[in-house]
Amino acid sequence: MNLNEYARRYTCEVNIGDSIIGGEHPIAVQSMTNTATADIVASVAQIEQIADAGAPIVRLTAQGRREGEAFAEIVPRLRADGYRTAVVADIHFVPEIASIAADYVDKVRINPGNYRLDGDDLERLVEKCRRRGVALRIGVNHGSLARHIFDRYGDTPQGMVASAMEFLHRLRAADFNQVVVSMKSSNTRVMVHAYRLLVEAMEREGMHYPIHLGVTEAGNDLEGRIKSAVGIGALLADGIGDTIRVSLTEPPQNEVPVAQLLVEHFAKREGYFPVTHPERYSPTEFRRRTDILTPITHDEITDRFCVVEATSDNPTAEWRAALLDAEPSQPVVIRRRYDDADIETLAVRAAADMGMLFLDGLADGVWIDAPQHEPEQVRRIELAILQAARVRISQTEYIACPSCGRTLYDIEHALAQIKERTSHLKGLKIGVMGCIVNGPGEMADADYGYVGAAAGRITLYKGREVVARNIPQEEALDALIELIKANGDWREA
Ligand code: SF4
Repeated sequence: MNLNEYARRYTCEVNIGDSIIGGEHPIAVQSMTNTATADIVASVAQIEQIADAGAPIVRLTAQGRREGEAFAEIVPRLRADGYRTAVVADIHFVPEIASIAADYVDKVRINPGNYRLDGDDLERLVEKCRRRGVALRIGVNHGSLARHIFDRYGDTPQGMVASAMEFLHRLRAADFNQVVVSMKSSNTRVMVHAYRLLVEAMEREGMHYPIHLGVTEAGNDLEGRIKSAVGIGALLADGIGDTIRVSLTEPPQNEVPVAQLLVEHFAKREGYFPVTHPERYSPTEFRRRTDILTPITHDEITDRFCVVEATSDNPTAEWRAALLDAEPSQPVVIRRRYDDADIETLAVRAAADMGMLFLDGLADGVWIDAPQHEPEQVRRIELAILQAARVRISQTEYIACPSCGRTLYDIEHALAQIKERTSHLKGLKIGVMGCIVNGPGEMADADYGYVGAAAGRITLYKGREVVARNIPQEEALDALIELIKANGDWREA
């Protein structure tokens, strides 16, 4: 990692249909459908909507044979409509489905947490991919590590990296290099540490696979955008990342402009900021630089804080160098002027610039200088950046998946309703997940879970324990609130 100036990590090129990622190619934006994949008409229409929004790569879930075989119709229909969009199949659990999908798609994503490595399934998949020119993504998720990895490392960034490396070693042994890797988590700190550790591990072994970035279960609205921008921005700022997906619990085409904004935002990072104390930096372990327990927003500044304003084209590196140079006991607020008229644009850019300084424990306060907006709105963004970087929790955290073809209820509506009733419960984490197969694992450390179990049916969790199964969606919100009350976590707004 070059701390002094922006340098994009060297990666090899991977072809995904007509798109090439890695090398000198621009960072590619992608998204994922949330239609039932076997519903060919709806899936093709949604891929086209996402492509029209500007994403050249679209992923669809393939949980069973029907979905795997659906690609035989989806891809030709898309091409007949004049779309060259690269199509990616997302596989969970069943190696056979990966093999079916690989006959039709441009890339297959497998999750090492639920893809067996004990037989020769992987090698057979690789041979098919090689024959058809299909790429593979090794997509590790924090919430679904394989049992043997979990037993050895727990659900840690180190475990995520070990999980990816097992697969990368097998792929290298098979001399297959059309490979992309990801390390997603809804916890931005875990996610950023995992990607940095992965880069270190790959560099040690001379591996240059391109990297796919994403924060899972980021939620929706301004807070969802900020959470993604904090995690993805912290890595793009150091030149890590060749393709990105911003996951939002919203219509998938909404993800595209946010991802495009992030790509544009990091396209120009100029300036040289020599770091005189690199030994003070701990990129893969969280350490606060000072003992100020709660980082502040701009309206909370008092005399003892020093303010460091970044004015260059690479504010993240500029602040990092200044903070590593500052007296270890001196609390520092980072400040920057943002002229954006659109509040969403401002939020994404500021979060992408500033988030890393909090994820790395370096800064003690945030000051977004944007007099064109209401002070309350600016403060909301500042608080959301601190919350996304996990250094100050000021509101309920929603760990909400973006939904996909496995989702059998209206998750967007459900999330909006749950937020309306529970957003005042500061400090609680509520998981709102689309499916019972992956949702419980991936809502990670949520205090309560609201998980789709079947069509229009919800299963409720307290921590990792099921407390009510298959209740009708119309009754589920009241039941969730009763559950929170019964556990003493409720308070009136
Ligand atoms: S948790 Fe959500 S995004 Fe993940 S597989 Fe289930 S429905 Fe799809």
